[in-house]
Amino acid sequence: TNVLIIGAGGREHAIGWKLAKSKRCGNLFFAPGNGGTAALGKNLDLAVDKVDTRTVDEIDYFCRKNNVSLIVVGPEDPLAAGLVDKLKRTPGAKERRVFGPIAEAARLEADKAWSKQLMRACSVPTADAKTFTDYEAARAYCEARELPVVVKASGLAKGKGVIVCDDNKEAVKAVETIMKDRAFGEAGDAIVVEERLVGQEVSILALVDGQNIYVLEPAQDHKPIGEGDTGPNTGGMGAYTPTPVIDDATMTLVETEVLVPIVDAMRRSDIDFKGVLYAGLMLTAGGPKVLEFNCRFGDPETQPLMMRMQGDLLDLLEATCDGKLDQVQINWDQRCCTSVVMSSGGYPGKYETGIPITGIEEAETDPDVRVFHAGTRLKGGELQTAGGRVLNVCAMGNTLAQAQAKANEACAKIRFEGAYFRKDIGSRVLNPKQH
Ligand code: ATP
Repeated sequence: TNVLIIGAGGREHAIGWKLAKSKRCGNLFFAPGNGGTAALGKNLDLAVDKVDTRTVDEIDYFCRKNNVSLIVVGPEDPLAAGLVDKLKRTPGAKERRVFGPIAEAARLEADKAWSKQLMRACSVPTADAKTFTDYEAARAYCEARELPVVVKASGLAKGKGVIVCDDNKEAVKAVETIMKDRAFGEAGDAIVVEERLVGQEVSILALVDGQNIYVLEPAQDHKPIGEGDTGPNTGGMGAYTPTPVIDDATMTLVETEVLVPIVDAMRRSDIDFKGVLYAGLMLTAGGPKVLEFNCRFGDPETQPLMMRMQGDLLDLLEATCDGKLDQVQINWDQRCCTSVVMSSGGYPGKYETGIPITGIEEAETDPDVRVFHAGTRLKGGELQTAGGRVLNVCAMGNTLAQAQAKANEACAKIRFEGAYFRKDIGSRVLNPKQH
């Protein structure tokens, strides 16, 4: 089976790496891929940021020519823009499977106001919230609100459209930023103002085949740039799995009270949800509550999840597309995996690119270490930085502390000017007092 993976991040590199282990996996293609995926397969010069007819035709043509029978769409933007729907309608569509939700289903992530409404309609536990499309009304509400709130742009904003506020002043400012200054463009046409919850955050990813739900192991990530979870938020500075903060009983509760009702509600509305359903949860004193849904593999959570997954990912993805998830079984390596992001100096603010990277091979001499690329590129045979989050350095360990130590040791062997990484990924479990 030849596979085309759409996306350019660490998530796509990790998915490709895991697929390559399948006996049935043939040629791997990435569009556009990165410096790491180039070693696993072939990177294609195919722009996928715009989902127009030309892009879809190009992908279809390429897949027909190269006998690609599975396309995996990684990132949220093309999913929300309907890439999967369009690929399923091309002349060559019958010859292949496309992994990822259709636009109607991806709306769960791309439209927070709608998602909130759906959660309320099927009694999924989540923060109390109000949606606004009118600036003055939102402002007045925030001025009057006594308890702390979180203000969210309803649309997709690359993970940056959420402003956690301490008081009314900050909330009013957040409303101004999103609705008046339009910091996130039309993603801020509607906003959701919600109750601020406290607790540990956990990511629960599940594969959904329209009907069956296959829950993966729980993971946690660290969003802030600084150690001790300080400073501005990023796309994620590291992740680990499993995590002891969620027990089996709570996992079951999440399945029955969050995932099942959402998938059922989708079916009732004739929306065929196939792909990854990812619940971002806060474990509050009153039980787990949903912060958001994503409709794709999480980045960086996927990287350590792929390290621990045993069994055939190709089988799993195909079963998801075919509605046969009830027929597959996968196991998990019982060890822990920590993934540490190495980022460019200055990130999440301004940073330079084009800086040479060395030491990855040396880091990977340890069989428990694997480096997935994110913002890298090959230029004239040289590996260079090409983005803010550059590498995901994953390490397995018998305990979370061991996995963290190994990942940190591996990071220390990798060099590029300005390289930065947090040495405390996993510390919410290892040193909970500091958080
Ligand atoms: P992602 O990058 O995960 O897609 P996003 O922009 O879709 O992010 P959310 O996950 O909704 O946004 O929120 C981002 C972060 O803001 C959460 O991880 C959490 O730390 C914080 N947050 C969101 N909602 C709340 C809430 N109700 N109470 C407290 N913190 C919250």
